[in-house]
Amino acid sequence: MTEIIDFLEKEDPFLKLTQQCDIICEHCPNNINGICKDNKKVDSIDKRCLERYDMKFDDMIKWSELKKLAYQNIISQKQLAIVCLDCQWRTLCFI
Ligand code: SF4
Repeated sequence: MTEIIDFLEKEDPFLKLTQQCDIICEHCPNNINGICKDNKKVDSIDKRCLERYDMKFDDMIKWSELKKLAYQNIISQKQLAIVCLDCQWRTLCFI
């Protein structure tokens, strides 16, 4: 995760908001043949985020813009616990 965050911060690439497992999931033990073991939970979190960003799956956006949307629509609105529930990566959102 540290390597991925470093890459995103350095390169600021365009990202595709995919509904399936992505490159972040590649080495995750929860990735079972391309389907997340926690797919139901992950999908519901993704949908709540997209709703707040007024975006949909398969849209493309730069990392820096996505971070801005997350800050404006979730973090600064104190919505993190409502949107992301018990996501194990939640603490990274405060970095
Ligand atoms: S828990 Fe699921 S969504 Fe998260 S990295 Fe692992 S496979 Fe991907």
